Amino acid sequence: MPGTLTRPELTAADRCDRCGAAAKARAVLQSGGELLFCGHHARAYEAGLRDVQADVQQDEQ
Ligand SMILES: [Zn+2]
Repeated sequence: MPGTLTRPELTAADRCDRCGAAAKARAVLQSGGELLFCGHHARAYEAGLRDVQADVQQDEQ
């Protein structure tokens, strides 16, 4: 279960893969790959990420 792995917290150094803004969410794909999204793009890609059963972890800040 990839989603159960403990991963490091997002930091200020983590950037959205789409626009370069501060990352607020990490999507872990079934393939094991990771994508980082700002709040805007996390919402924009939410449906698509669900479609591919990605595990989306929101930053708690
Ligand atoms: Zn973005």
